[in-house]
Amino acid sequence: MEADYLAKGWERTESHSDADLIVVRGCSVTRRAQHDCERLVAHIKAKYPATRLIVTGCLRDESAERLSPAVRRARAILEGMNAADDEDEETPQEIEEDEPIPMRTARAYLKIQDGCSGKCSFCIVPQFRGPSFSVPFSSLMRKTERFIEAGYTEIVLTGCNLILYASGGKRLPELVDALARLGESADEKSRPRCRIRLGSIEPGACALETVDVMAAHANVCRYLHVPAQSGADRILTAMKRPYLVRDVVELVERAKRVSALAGIGFDLMTGFPGETEMDFLSTEGLIKRLCPSNVHVFPYSERPGTIAAGLLDAIPREVRHDRARRLAAVAKNHRSQFAKKFIGQQVQIVIEDEKEMSGWTGEYFQCRIDNKGRCASVKRRDIVEARVTMARHGALVAAVV
Ligand code: SF4
Repeated sequence: MEADYLAKGWERTESHSDADLIVVRGCSVTRRAQHDCERLVAHIKAKYPATRLIVTGCLRDESAERLSPAVRRARAILEGMNAADDEDEETPQEIEEDEPIPMRTARAYLKIQDGCSGKCSFCIVPQFRGPSFSVPFSSLMRKTERFIEAGYTEIVLTGCNLILYASGGKRLPELVDALARLGESADEKSRPRCRIRLGSIEPGACALETVDVMAAHANVCRYLHVPAQSGADRILTAMKRPYLVRDVVELVERAKRVSALAGIGFDLMTGFPGETEMDFLSTEGLIKRLCPSNVHVFPYSERPGTIAAGLLDAIPREVRHDRARRLAAVAKNHRSQFAKKFIGQQVQIVIEDEKEMSGWTGEYFQCRIDNKGRCASVKRRDIVEARVTMARHGALVAAVV
């Protein structure tokens, strides 16, 4: 959106007070997110009453209905529909070809689908975003090529639920395979034109196949983010998640067979209605067994309108938060331990911060270069190979080889 506005002659301001237009990307996925967004919107409305305000995303607010042409166009592209009420009568394909490429970020985000057809009992997303719809395969190929031509060296696949991707007979594994081929260099020994990073991926047959594709392409990042949610089958079933703990284990073990140092991320929820101390300990046990390198822990929060909000055996808030703290502490310890395994190993870094000379490894560890003198010409988005010399607080330090 920002790129779209800049291409139309708008300028980015450093503060709200200088702006003629303020865009808030709203979110209602958690009650906290919704609350924070609503407060921000109320603050902007009160402080800058004369400034035009656009609220996008899935925040439930009347102002979200008043979308700018840019947002309508963006949505039309994603939905593969014509932007019927736009001033111009471009087809989605023409719009997409014109769509500007943002240049401020080091990584490009490729949204491959939106919405979800899942029925998880705690989740409000399907109600806000509707059923899953996928961006046409050919559009994604063209957009990725344009990202690469614009100099991006890492493309992150995003969406509400990646494994639901389906377009013209292509599913997530076929899409990842095609994008990885696009990013490979002609000469196998050279660095790739770009690498592909998967967003969050739900356990199951499609995820396993996607890991097999990862194994076939060196430029697919060795990192898997799994929204595991719980380490107890009883709770996963109550959440109506479409997998059990053994599926989480199988997925992680498959990724570890591709690379023993593959980074693993988990989303975990504590205090779902009915979660006993034993269930919680099973989740803690899952961390200890699978050693994820990144864990996001969320204390459960009721979303009115979901099945889970009506369940009777609610867990007291202080217990939810206490369990979240305990899990986070275990996870932090495991991250530090895991980071140490990289010492002496060669990693590939996409440079994000030119001044600090730091970036992210394929395994999703932040890594700083400590022999800057040898690589004065390294720029943001460059792909560099380096050997890890130190691991500190879960981040790495490396020397360019
Ligand atoms: S898979 Fe479940 S939690 Fe994820 S967006 Fe769909 S309904 Fe929500």
